[in-house]
Amino acid sequence: MSKQGKIKNGNNKAKHTKLLNQKKNKIREAKALNKQRLKALITKSNLYKQDCSCGSGKLYEDCCAIAHKNIELVTTAGQLMRSRYTAYVVGDIEYLMKSHHSSTCPIKEKKEILKWTKSVKWLRLEVLNTAKGGVGDTEGTVEFKAYFEENGVAAVIHENSKFNRENEHWVYLGEL
Ligand SMILES: [Zn+2]
Repeated sequence: MSKQGKIKNGNNKAKHTKLLNQKKNKIREAKALNKQRLKALITKSNLYKQDCSCGSGKLYEDCCAIAHKNIELVTTAGQLMRSRYTAYVVGDIEYLMKSHHSSTCPIKEKKEILKWTKSVKWLRLEVLNTAKGGVGDTEGTVEFKAYFEENGVAAVIHENSKFNRENEHWVYLGEL
């Protein structure tokens, strides 16, 4: 074998090793992604069997999960308010957008909201007052307190929220 041939073989070997490593890395990444997906799925199925964060005393699957799956099944403004709180807790940003009136929806801050809600620890929801917002109403208000912890500091959102209907379901309009 000539000297040149040896070098060439050496180069081929290096190239081969590189390709093999790339392939290995790809498989490793795919496996990690699968593991992540599985973990998310298990967490989600566990969540369904847990008490709903809105404080109704029902399981999540029998409470706000119904709203999160189909917003049209929400019959009152109070229910929508509770389901929005729970959406903050579980980080369901799509539901938070969908349940917001289009004229006031913070669609541009979607990413920031998701990041923020995932960073805080939601503690509990207290519904203080509701006015109108029933099955036959077109608008209503709900006063609530949402307790959370941000960077270890206790905080509360106290708001009297206005709700009305859009696309034939309840939506959050904003603070009264
Ligand atoms: Zn609930």
